[in-house]
Amino acid sequence: MADTIFDQILNKKIPADIVYEDDRVLAFRDVSPQAPIHVLVIPKKKLVSFNDFNDAASTDVGDYMSSIAKVAQHLGLKQDGYRVVFNHGRHGQQTVDYVHAHLIGGRQLTWPPG
Ligand code: AMP
Repeated sequence: MADTIFDQILNKKIPADIVYEDDRVLAFRDVSPQAPIHVLVIPKKKLVSFNDFNDAASTDVGDYMSSIAKVAQHLGLKQDGYRVVFNHGRHGQQTVDYVHAHLIGGRQLTWPPG
């Protein structure tokens, strides 16, 4: 699997504004934030995209989801709410081939998204 920019952040080869880390996930601020809080949460056990959850162990998927909720709580987003976004593939405008959840909040969001 090709080394992406997120592999390099995970391996501390390039810097990132890390807001949370444990044995399962790394969370860092998006360089192009779309809200006051815009953090990317990646699993340390690499998957390329959301569609890979189809073949992944359900415990790994569940652990990842629960870690995303933990990061949201850590960032103080639980009470007012937030959005979790996964972009998959070309139509989904996925630009980095390492699965990542966008955790977005800190303001009133609108729906539908653009
Ligand atoms: P996606 O379109 O879902 O693949 O989102 C990739 C996200 O990664 C975009 O929101 C980018 O702004 C963000 N991004 C790209 N490079 C970096 C980086 N070095 N550090 C933090 N965020 C990044």
